[in-house]
Amino acid sequence: MHCGKINIEYNSNTFELPYVEINTLIIGSGAAALNAAVQLYNKGVTNIAIATDNWGGGTSNNAGSDKQTYYKLSLAGKEMDSPYAMASDLFWGGCMHGDIALCEAHHSAESFYNLVNIGVPFPHDKYGGYTGYKTDNDSRARGTSAGPLTSHLMFQKLAKEVIKRGIPVFNNHEVVELLVNRSGVGKKVIGAIAINKKEANANNYGYIIFNSTNILLCTGGPAGMYKWPVYPESQTGSTGLALKIGAVAQNLTESQFGLGSVKFRWNVSGSYQQAIPRYVSTDKDGNDEREFLNDSFASAESLVNAIFLKGYQWPFNAVRIKNDGSSLIDILVHRETVKKGRRVFLDFTHNLFDIYCRPNSNVKLKYDTKFHLSLLNDEAYGYLEKSNALGRLPIERLNELNRPAIDLYKNNGIDIEREYLEIAVCAQHCNGGLKGNIWWESNIKNLFPIGEVAGTHGVNRPGGASLNAGQVGGIRAAMYISENYNSPPHEKEYFLELAMEQISDTLSFADKIIRKDSNSSDSKTIDNSKSERVSIQDSLEDIRLRMSASGSHIRNKDGVRKALMEAWKQFTLLKDNVTLQSSRSLANVYKLYDICLTHIVYLEAIMEYLDKDGKSRGSFIITNSDNELDFDLKSISDFVSNNIQEIWLDNNMSVKIRWVDVRPIPDDDVWFESVWRDFRDGKIIQ
Ligand SMILES: Cc1cc2nc3c(=O)[nH]c(=O)nc-3n(C[C@H](O)[C@H](O)[C@H](O)COP(=O)(O)OP(=O)(O)OC[C@H]3O[C@@H](n4cnc5c(N)ncnc54)[C@H](O)[C@@H]3O)c2cc1C
Repeated sequence: MHCGKINIEYNSNTFELPYVEINTLIIGSGAAALNAAVQLYNKGVTNIAIATDNWGGGTSNNAGSDKQTYYKLSLAGKEMDSPYAMASDLFWGGCMHGDIALCEAHHSAESFYNLVNIGVPFPHDKYGGYTGYKTDNDSRARGTSAGPLTSHLMFQKLAKEVIKRGIPVFNNHEVVELLVNRSGVGKKVIGAIAINKKEANANNYGYIIFNSTNILLCTGGPAGMYKWPVYPESQTGSTGLALKIGAVAQNLTESQFGLGSVKFRWNVSGSYQQAIPRYVSTDKDGNDEREFLNDSFASAESLVNAIFLKGYQWPFNAVRIKNDGSSLIDILVHRETVKKGRRVFLDFTHNLFDIYCRPNSNVKLKYDTKFHLSLLNDEAYGYLEKSNALGRLPIERLNELNRPAIDLYKNNGIDIEREYLEIAVCAQHCNGGLKGNIWWESNIKNLFPIGEVAGTHGVNRPGGASLNAGQVGGIRAAMYISENYNSPPHEKEYFLELAMEQISDTLSFADKIIRKDSNSSDSKTIDNSKSERVSIQDSLEDIRLRMSASGSHIRNKDGVRKALMEAWKQFTLLKDNVTLQSSRSLANVYKLYDICLTHIVYLEAIMEYLDKDGKSRGSFIITNSDNELDFDLKSISDFVSNNIQEIWLDNNMSVKIRWVDVRPIPDDDVWFESVWRDFRDGKIIQ
């Protein structure tokens, strides 16, 4: 790595900017980024650095569930499995390219054992069998877990490996622009501009220029555009960085939503549901408590079993609503919180119906029964029995099933042994994202989206497949870069020739929005054209409410159309009228733009899907013109199931969309002698 300074003449001023030359810049410090850095280093690509807005921030280090799952090839006992079978399960989820599925399956064991070898404590038996369990959308027992904090442990151990190798980290550096070579055939990334947030008040606004051969974009999911995310607060995402330079995205219609706690953001899946808590809603002030699920389920048995099932079937799924399915619970929670403006809680301190069955209760219960575990079907009861978790109250059962699940909330200021746990239907993950080839390289040469920002999955994915994909992506990109792109970046003079226009535009942007003449000390305000002051926070709130109302798990064509009109209007308004009183908040303005642009592209993707007669699927349900849930899951032509939607912005920031055939799983020729010959001849990684 070579570090220095460059002088940029702009507007009769000279700006001195820090300047870094490097082979590969890795953006982000989640599990995907850190693994990619380690993989590159291990393959001899050592001229690398990490730029992250917040070391320790992001989803991997801060999110989890009762038993956070890592999806891997079955590697224990008598469980039959093969990479092809695993690829088929990934592919079966719908709208996932088969060659990508095969890569994720082939590198699964390697990724998993990498983590084992650096100390992630995945459980194994005394014969070394890394046993597994069945996770969502999984035909075998491919799920494993290191506990509620699997991805945090991955972060911790990978971070140690990064530090051990001395890989430089630019912490508090928010990357705000990707630099591209606009000349020649096809776009190619040549570097990036970041803001050093600790230096944002300096004359150069904290800008720093990276001249790099490759960029690995590992910025995670687009959490910042939702009102109710279960992503941690430190995760906002930066997909817009790549969208604004023309990177193609795919399957943006396919996100996952499910029940999460809101005060401390966490998935209430698995044992939290298998303990069968009581669901209650209250008014805004916590009064007028009601067990709101009771009226919508046909019987006490179906309600109790649906709650239990929610443990396995955590993500909201359109096919699991009818006939008292587990996703009916999400619909009812949404109705209470969004439609009725009430609050919803899980109560682990009482059983369902308990309060209504008291002699002095004046509420009539729909079911003529008391809660008892024999309401469960045999499989569910057997599960609790085998787990020695037949306690009287939900909290006792949870304690027996999974004590760390209780402690986790305690450690975050919520004592579910005594108090109710507030929940909502939250955005958790995006299966779609930026498109890459089988080496995770995007349509922009030398730009590799890895981790959640990369959209390798489609309509459904097995639980835990996201963490596997993030690890595999790093291995694939490192293989490719070490063979083909392990060269120094452009000479400084040539780089500056290529990048000067973008660097000047960046300085001009800061110059335009920072009002040096202002006396006000409020740095977090924006003036719009009518001189009406709007805060960054208010603008974000508008986006988040819009996205959660129209682009989440319940979607309506008219609603999306209206949301899009409002979104574009807001984008234009922000683009033309933002001013700041100091450069301290400059990075926040970039973030606001990024989130605004990203939510527009997501809404455009959803609109196009609905225009193509797309029906309810995966983790969303469509409502018809009468605002009723539309359970029709089959499109007339099924066009949207056989094609993957790709979306991007052209040079004029106009949205472009095309649909491409889903590529099947390749009929891979694994005849050893053929593979060995091609491998020796260097024909594999091309
Ligand atoms: C509650 C919850 C439970 C989950 N459970 C599971 C599970 O059981 N199994 C599973 O497979 N997946 C699960 N997931 C999903 C999985 O955790 C994430 O997909 C994965 O951790 C994402 O890793 P990542 O490295 O891609 O991104 P992240 O870990 O989110 O990291 C992104 C990084 O990029 C940085 N960054 C962003 N923008 C910029 C910028 N402009 N400049 C510099 N840095 C930037 C962030 O600070 C962060 O360091 C869960 C997610 C949630 C929210």
